[in-house]
Amino acid sequence: MTIRPLVILPDPLLRQVSKPVERVDDDLRKFADDMLETMYDAPGIGLAAIQVGEPLRMLVLDVSEKDEPKNPQVFINPEIVSRSDEPNVHEEGCLSIPDYYAEVERPARVTVKYIDLEGKERLVEADGILATCLQHEIDHLNGVLFIDYLSKLKRDMVVRKFKKLAKDRQPARMVG
Ligand code: ZN
Repeated sequence: MTIRPLVILPDPLLRQVSKPVERVDDDLRKFADDMLETMYDAPGIGLAAIQVGEPLRMLVLDVSEKDEPKNPQVFINPEIVSRSDEPNVHEEGCLSIPDYYAEVERPARVTVKYIDLEGKERLVEADGILATCLQHEIDHLNGVLFIDYLSKLKRDMVVRKFKKLAKDRQPARMVG
């Protein structure tokens, strides 16, 4: 298993729409392991493939509590098939936008259709943190970030901050 480097805002990859996975094979299962290891290492509770630079419709998550056994889950070609009218507000963060958190309102419950690592089609009815996490990660597959739900003022502030951080990370040019 390999820990992969994370794609960080304002990398334009984060705005790319990911393509459906066409075949579930050993290469894909290996990639899912890499994604999980990268997520646990960060640490985070969810990760979309695009966040490690692969524009595939695939995500991993583990929303188990600290005192519970690990519960890694892999969702391939996930699709929200129904949403509750009732909303839920949850504080969200993102491994691609480190150390920034904000409250986001989303449907409290969603039903998601997906393919598992055996290539079988499955359906999950999610609520609570699982519903929030699934919606956040599925957004990534469509190039949408949680800061898109904030006011333009807040979003611009975050983007500006991360543009500056990215600039500071670049090595200084040699002069002369
Ligand atoms: Zn995220």
